[in-house]
Amino acid sequence: MKNNCIFCAIAEGEIPSFKIYEDEMCLAYLDINPFSKGHTLVIPKAHSEGLLDTPCETLAELVKRVKKVASHIKATLNADGFNILQNNGEAAGQTVKHIHFHIVPRYGMNEISFESSKGDMYELKALAERLRIA
Ligand code: 5GP
Ligand code: ZN
Repeated sequence: MKNNCIFCAIAEGEIPSFKIYEDEMCLAYLDINPFSKGHTLVIPKAHSEGLLDTPCETLAELVKRVKKVASHIKATLNADGFNILQNNGEAAGQTVKHIHFHIVPRYGMNEISFESSKGDMYELKALAERLRIA
């Protein structure tokens, strides 16, 4: 595994993921421990650790994809809103050291836990098929 990085391995297809969008520079896939239905991660294919070591050009392109994917998830799942999270450093709760934006859909005024809990693989597979952007 390159860099010993699980998200690089996902980007290279060495580790499977419930992919919903891919282009030349980025990948979006469902989080396996979702905070809410449709919780998605958007990553650049090129490895960097966090906001501070990622080139501004990459960030700009990535945020365009975050917007596109969030808009698609919101419409498809009829979400009422969404949180964008981007953790930097262990102290901030970053567990995977490959920059990623979380898109966390929100439904009604329901409170959610921002603690991970294991997702159901069958549900995630079906959801990824429903959310896939051609
Ligand atoms: P962080 O806390 O670093 O901001 O978030 C890392 C996220 O990656 C967590 O929400 C965790 O559930 C997710 N994650 C960790 N390993 C994998 C994996 O192998 N596949 C997917 N799809 N998500 C993962
Ligand atoms: Zn990486």
